Amino acid sequence: MKVLLTSTSFQDTPGKHQKLLEEQAYEIDRLRGPLTEAEIIDVIGKYDAIICGDDELNRKVLTKAVEGNLKYISKYGVGLDKIDLEAAKTLNIPVTNCPGVNQVSVAEHVFALLLSFSRNIHHEYNITKSGGWKRMTGSEIHGKTMGIIGYGAIGKEVAKRALCFGLETVIYDPYAEITTDSKYRKVDTLTELLEIADIISLHVPLNKETHHIIGENEIKNLIKQGAIIINTSRGPLVDKNVLIQSLKNGKIKGYLTDVLDIEPISKEEPLKDVENVLITPHIGSRTNESVERQGTMAVNNLIEMIKNK
Ligand code: NAD
Repeated sequence: MKVLLTSTSFQDTPGKHQKLLEEQAYEIDRLRGPLTEAEIIDVIGKYDAIICGDDELNRKVLTKAVEGNLKYISKYGVGLDKIDLEAAKTLNIPVTNCPGVNQVSVAEHVFALLLSFSRNIHHEYNITKSGGWKRMTGSEIHGKTMGIIGYGAIGKEVAKRALCFGLETVIYDPYAEITTDSKYRKVDTLTELLEIADIISLHVPLNKETHHIIGENEIKNLIKQGAIIINTSRGPLVDKNVLIQSLKNGKIKGYLTDVLDIEPISKEEPLKDVENVLITPHIGSRTNESVERQGTMAVNNLIEMIKNK
């Protein structure tokens, strides 16, 4: 069994997941993803299985993969938006992912971004490191309204923490069950949430329905003046061009993001030059604890798929 491993956080973080993979009788090759179509298309067919990150597993790549040996895809992570699932189904390649293991890490990252931005930690760090002493005035988050879009594994953990910080918490998720005795307010439309939220946090998967869920109408007409948007889900959930105009004219106070349309960041990425934007390099789930859980699950998923074939 030849296995290709492309997830860099799996490779770079020590833990039980490494040992579990080594214990299998696999021949393992490692490449540093996320790999583009051009980088993966000519190599993928050499492997029986891939433990992948956000590599471009589109129809063309998968078709080439099954012309070779590929039989199993174990996604290290939750989001499956880089894998053409319809193509995988037609080509009879089972795909697994790792739900329910990284939500605490991502939820903590949401508040790391929010508190850093609200208290100017990112600016103060640079100023004091260069010997300066500029005492900037920040804002409390207590008493503000946080709108959580998507009440799945991560959205739920964010909501719990929002409560502890004294945030009013509003949730929009038409597909999730939210009990009425909940401490959070559930709204039936995205419009309702956007009209009242001071802080908007995105926790939905990227698909046709959610692409630009924060689009031109939402940004220009529905979101409150001075709102902060936090995106730890996927870049294309937000219409970047409209967002940038609105960040520059002050309609949106800040965009705090862990994800970009194109990752890794490109030299031309316009968001990096906008003052009130905080970007981290897709590290929401990259903690020692989460990588070990997720890596172990990705390997176990592969073991199970092979057993069940
Ligand atoms: P999840 O599947 O547990 O939850 C997603 C929720 O979104 C579900 O409750 C679903 O009902 C809801 N939803 C779907 N479409 C919606 C819509 N149109 N409007 C409102 N709600 C909608 O997933 P999760 O584990 O919470 O992860 C959410 C996303 O976060 C993932 O899809 C992934 O893209 C991203 N993620 C990022 C990182 C990171 O490192 N930054 C790590 C893990 C996951």
